[in-house]
Amino acid sequence: MTTLKAQGQLRHCFWGEYYGQLILITDESEELLRAAIPSELLPKPRKRKAKHEFQTCDDKGKRYAVLSTIYPSEELDPVVKWLEQYRIDEKCKDRRGCDGERHPITGCEHSLDVGPPFEVSIPFTHPDQQELPL
Ligand SMILES: [Zn+2]
Repeated sequence: MTTLKAQGQLRHCFWGEYYGQLILITDESEELLRAAIPSELLPKPRKRKAKHEFQTCDDKGKRYAVLSTIYPSEELDPVVKWLEQYRIDEKCKDRRGCDGERHPITGCEHSLDVGPPFEVSIPFTHPDQQELPL
């Protein structure tokens, strides 16, 4: 078992039928990001608007992997609960009046549109270990 560190943020889309857009970014490879996210927690493509996309990005020679998802509200709860248990960020870094407490991923304390930036350390089985013969 190893862990994958990622930064994330949830964007709330309230117009029409609610959906949540969740972004996770990691310095690790796209392969490891795929391995760390259980497939049952990815949005189901049969649902309207639901989708997910893994990407490798290159920013001036620095590579990082991104998971971009859109969840209808009923599929968002399980993934938020799952992420909350692996959070490693401790306190709100915003200085506008709140007392440094940690806000939930879905929190609207500082914006109606986006939740707080958060950091997770997700335990997972490395793909190389999965391929070991039994
Ligand atoms: Zn705050």
